[in-house]
Amino acid sequence: MSDYKMSTKCVQGGYTPGNGEPRQIPIIQSTTFKYTTSEDMGKLFDLEASGYFYTRLQNPTNDMVAAKICDMEGGAAAMLTSSGQAANFYAIFNIANCGDHVVASSTIYGGTYNLFHVTMRKMGIDFTFVSPDCSEEELNAAFKPNTKAVFGETIANPALTVLDIEKFARAAHAHGVPLIVDNTFATPVNCRPFEWGCDIVTHSTTKYMDGHGAGVGGCIVDSGNFDWMAHKEKFPGLCTPDDSYHGITYAEKFGQGGAFITKCTAQLMRDFGSIQSPQNAFLLNLGLESLHVRMPRHCENALAVAKYLKSHPKISFVTYPGLEGDQYYELTRKYMPNGTCGVVSFGFKGGRSAAETFMKHLRLAAIETHVADARTCTLHPASATHRQMNDEELTAAGITPDLVRFSCGIEDAADLIADIEQALAQV
Ligand SMILES: *Cc1c(COP(=O)(O)O)cnc(C)c1O
Repeated sequence: MSDYKMSTKCVQGGYTPGNGEPRQIPIIQSTTFKYTTSEDMGKLFDLEASGYFYTRLQNPTNDMVAAKICDMEGGAAAMLTSSGQAANFYAIFNIANCGDHVVASSTIYGGTYNLFHVTMRKMGIDFTFVSPDCSEEELNAAFKPNTKAVFGETIANPALTVLDIEKFARAAHAHGVPLIVDNTFATPVNCRPFEWGCDIVTHSTTKYMDGHGAGVGGCIVDSGNFDWMAHKEKFPGLCTPDDSYHGITYAEKFGQGGAFITKCTAQLMRDFGSIQSPQNAFLLNLGLESLHVRMPRHCENALAVAKYLKSHPKISFVTYPGLEGDQYYELTRKYMPNGTCGVVSFGFKGGRSAAETFMKHLRLAAIETHVADARTCTLHPASATHRQMNDEELTAAGITPDLVRFSCGIEDAADLIADIEQALAQV
């Protein structure tokens, strides 16, 4: 599929039926797989043969859908996870252990910030958060001898900052570590981070990829471009023998393109089991089949909403990276010239209470913690996803108390604007 255009990959990638086989991907609703001899199964446990034995680690339906996303991103290997949170946790924990350090953008999704700043810190992994807009000097100064990765979001949720992927990749590579980018908001339809030097991509497939609010899920894609063996001393987990698999060295046995995902499956899925159910993978695939059709409509609606809000007297600011004049407009021209995402953020001259009044009067747009859905949904982060943050942390994350995140669906833009208009009249 790799020679086909994005639209064709969305529709047909990951699965090509043989003669007389089902046209739609089969849901392999089985926890386990049968073998003829114990020797056959033993080879799987030694990673000497590839195959399925237990759905806590791997399932064929999941792998077909992962292969589609891998193809869309232009990667070498991929795996599905039970959620975006699991994807980001695995992507970091696969290479950073207790005593290690990671550099991350400060404007990342609140759930990821909590995972890094609170939970992974308890596991002994230290994070330094830097502004995505920092200078190269500031970025380079954040690295330590024990730094193992750099992390950012293509378009941050909900701050809508745009990552200068090349700048972050340059700094990561100068320090011998990979750049991991969460590409949830842009999706590979609008941005392919590997083309700009990113090494590993993660997704919350719960968002645009599923697109219909049907299933929580995640994905990790490895570009296969990072040379682990060239930085052996930093990545002992990939470059020295794994005793739990009879002394296999992942980077040697599975090569540059297979090591990361194989280790992540064989160790982290085996031990944590945060796997996506095959049913959800099937639903995710249905969503992926129309992603290339939905994304342009999300972007078109968001641009119309952003333009409307921009000139409204009760609105204090509008943030939409695809809007001319936005702080990140130039970066989006470079990294995502065909569109950004459907999410617009804005604030009120009347502050926090005006935001709360506005939210109360919306009819079509629903208040949800969800985002990036076919149906328009909206959220006031300071009272929901980001309420654990103090004012200083909120500011660093690019969120003000009056900020509303408005996720434009694929309805008619005129209806969305009419809904906003009548709610603003109540403010
Ligand atoms: C939602 C989201 C996540 C977390 O994903 P879940 O599927 O909710 O676990 C991670 N990153 C970004 C950018 C998100 O929007």
